[in-house]
Formats: sequence, C-alpha cells, structure tokens
Amino acid sequence: MSKFTGGCLCGGVLYTYQGELGGAAGAVTVCHCAACRKAQGYAAAVVPACAEGFVVTAGADLIREYESSPGKKRAFCSLCGSPLYSRRDDRPEVLRIRLGSLDHPPESLTVDAHTFTEGAPAWARPDDAPRYAGLEPART
Ligand SMILES: [Zn+2]
Repeated sequence: MSKFTGGCLCGGVLYTYQGELGGAAGAVTVCHCAACRKAQGYAAAVVPACAEGFVVTAGADLIREYESSPGKKRAFCSLCGSPLYSRRDDRPEVLRIRLGSLDHPPESLTVDAHTFTEGAPAWARPDDAPRYAGLEPART
C-alpha cells in the first residue's frame, strides 16, 4: 500500500491517498466521452481509488461537485476549476481520481483502456502522432 499526495492547480485543495491505484481498484482509463471533454477540456485520465483512503487535508470548503448525470458527481476546485475526482452514489467505496491531480503518479501506472473513442472527434482519438519531451520542434 502506498501513500500519495495531490491537489488542484491553485493549491487550495490538497489531499492524501493511501491505498491501491488501479490494479485491484479497477482499470486506469482515458475517457473520451462528451461529458469528460467538456468537464476536463479534453479526455479525462482517470485512476480508480478506494474512497476510504482518500483524505482532503486542505480546502475541503473549496470543493464543489457537479452532478453530470444522475448519481454521478464530478468534484473540482471552485477557485481554479481543477478536476479532482468523480464519484457515484451507487458505488460510494470508489473514487475515480483525475490523474493530473496527483503530485507524483507512480511511474508503474499504465493506461489500461481508452473509452468512448467512437463518439470522440477525430483529433481526440488515440493516434500515432509523434511525442516530444517539450514543445514540438516547429514551435519555438
Ligand atoms: Zn484550486
């Protein structure tokens, strides 16, 4: 069992998580559905976690939740808008942490699946485009 820290962009919300990430908790996914594209600015990289290991250590009062479909709530920082996690009323034991909110996601984490790619625009589908450590060479 490992311990992780995370939070939002402005630093108002901080959390710790102690437990499994992915694996037994569920698949690590990149979701390309229409709701994630609107809510996250693009696809959502999500890692399932056990709710009981998740503790908000600062800024709990800044967290707002938007119910994007019945019983599904997307939590975000009300100051900077950073997505933090989603949760479902019918599965209270699971939080789906937005990977970008973790300070140091484990290097061992791999994406198990891209979901809802069918309805995604062509530019949002997984592709073989070249990857660069920084900006693409044409942009200086
Ligand atoms: Zn914030």
